[in-house]
Amino acid sequence: MPDKTCACPHCKCVVGKNAVMKDGKSYCCKGCAEHHAHGEPCAAATGCECAKSAHG
Ligand SMILES: [Zn+2]
Ligand SMILES: [Zn+2]
Ligand SMILES: [Zn+2]
Repeated sequence: MPDKTCACPHCKCVVGKNAVMKDGKSYCCKGCAEHHAHGEPCAAATGCECAKSAHG
């Protein structure tokens, strides 16, 4: 089974042991799990810009 990726539409991060489960989907971090509703950045230190892509 391949590594699962974050359910955040624009996030390519692999969900590891710190996965955040929400609505039956797994996200890499709390920010993604909350759909960046409050502008939380992605926890990934790789410059993932899914938080920006989440809005407009
Ligand atoms: Zn991300
Ligand atoms: Zn993510
Ligand atoms: Zn995200």
